[in-house]
Amino acid sequence: MTTPATRRVAICGIGTESSTFSAHRTGYHDFTLWHDFSRYPFLRQDSGRWPEEVAGVRVEFVPILVARALPGGQVTREAYDRLESELLAGLRAAGPFDGVYLDLHGAMHVEGRDDAEAALAAAVRDVVGPGAPIAASMDLHGQVSRRFAELVDLPTAYRTAPHVDVEETRERACRLLVRALAENLDVVRSWVRLPLLLPGERTSTRLDPAAAIYARLPEIERRPGVLDASIWIGYAWADAPRSSVNILTTGTSPEAVTAATAELAGALWRSRDAFAFAMPALSPRAAIEQALSSPQRPYFVSDSGDNPTAGGSGDAAFFLSGLLSTPALAGGGKSAVWASCVDPTAVAACVAAGVGGEVTVRVGGVYSGDPPVLLKGTVHAVRPADPVGGDLAVVRAGGVHAVLTTRRKPYHLVKDLTDLDLDPWRHDLTAIKIGYLEPDLHQAAAASILALTPGGVSQDLSALPYTRLTRPIHPLDPAMPAPDLTPVLLRRSH
Ligand SMILES: [Zn+2]
Repeated sequence: MTTPATRRVAICGIGTESSTFSAHRTGYHDFTLWHDFSRYPFLRQDSGRWPEEVAGVRVEFVPILVARALPGGQVTREAYDRLESELLAGLRAAGPFDGVYLDLHGAMHVEGRDDAEAALAAAVRDVVGPGAPIAASMDLHGQVSRRFAELVDLPTAYRTAPHVDVEETRERACRLLVRALAENLDVVRSWVRLPLLLPGERTSTRLDPAAAIYARLPEIERRPGVLDASIWIGYAWADAPRSSVNILTTGTSPEAVTAATAELAGALWRSRDAFAFAMPALSPRAAIEQALSSPQRPYFVSDSGDNPTAGGSGDAAFFLSGLLSTPALAGGGKSAVWASCVDPTAVAACVAAGVGGEVTVRVGGVYSGDPPVLLKGTVHAVRPADPVGGDLAVVRAGGVHAVLTTRRKPYHLVKDLTDLDLDPWRHDLTAIKIGYLEPDLHQAAAASILALTPGGVSQDLSALPYTRLTRPIHPLDPAMPAPDLTPVLLRRSH
């Protein structure tokens, strides 16, 4: 019996999504670190081995370091440099490697630097050498610059927004890499940048045109000579040259990958004005009025401008002030929930007062320095030591129930609300700092609207102070000429 040839693959990556318009900063301790296989249940958990041999080759994955943080403001240089040096030291110590799997998001922004993922890919390439193929799994809100496309052989991205194919995408990236290694494939890729700035809320794959465009990918991948076709909608809230839409197809046939990329680019560009919000989008005042005048419950309102999972700071109390100044809510005739705002000082005051205690707190602006909103009311609930948000508290003022957190915390589950004695079926309006509704809320919603609130991830892109985008770009430059969408063919340079 012969021993199969073995190839060793390093798993590493640093990932988050950073708004350059948010005052929040992402530090080293905001990252969760993995040194194991738990993010990859498709690998054998005892050994990291790919479950089957491919073409008589056994592939072993070796966990080095994967770091992920909740979206937020820019990553500090200190945090990024420390993570990168830990990652590279681990890679050097455990090498040599035949390949690398990068577990990324793709829209990280490090203070004062551009194209963080390309810099990371270049540093990894320096350690592993020119011969090792690199694969990557990414968020479709990530960015694939030309430099990144030159460095990474097999990048692929989620195909759903909201993202329900996260694990599947990681598995696909690893499978592509296993195949490339086992069959010693000579991979080529076709890349194109589209000068388009699209917020995620206009590109939900629940709706056309995004649904129809993403639905073409499986057929394209079945074509001879094509391995993977992916579309990165990109990230609109980074004022950086790379912010745009990118398409990349990998395969073994230069003609097939070029044709696929060109076809997808054409379809996307022709649809550029058809991307619409997944739900009605209204001014904050109109959103409150519409929700309160409807008998439907739960009635979710997205406080979208400060959505922490898009990179908002999570400290803006703008929408709270709108709720408090609504007579029907202030008087208690109608009731509303608002989740949430990070404010550790206000939470501590609520914890000290206890449930039923009276508090007067100033809420909001902990990162931005924006003037806080005065909140005077009764402590409705307290929940200590939430693993994400730390101590949590709810203050009721009239009919308004405001959720306060010690650390930034998204509210994507009905249970997160009911755990705080807030049942969205019992309130006239449930406002969440979110964009399109994540699956659990979407399923629960009788009705939902998007409130166009200000913040670091404002949906009104034309109001954001961009200075560093590559111009012209649609829709900010309506008179721009038709762009050249000819794909660029890239090959391994070794
Ligand atoms: Zn995303």
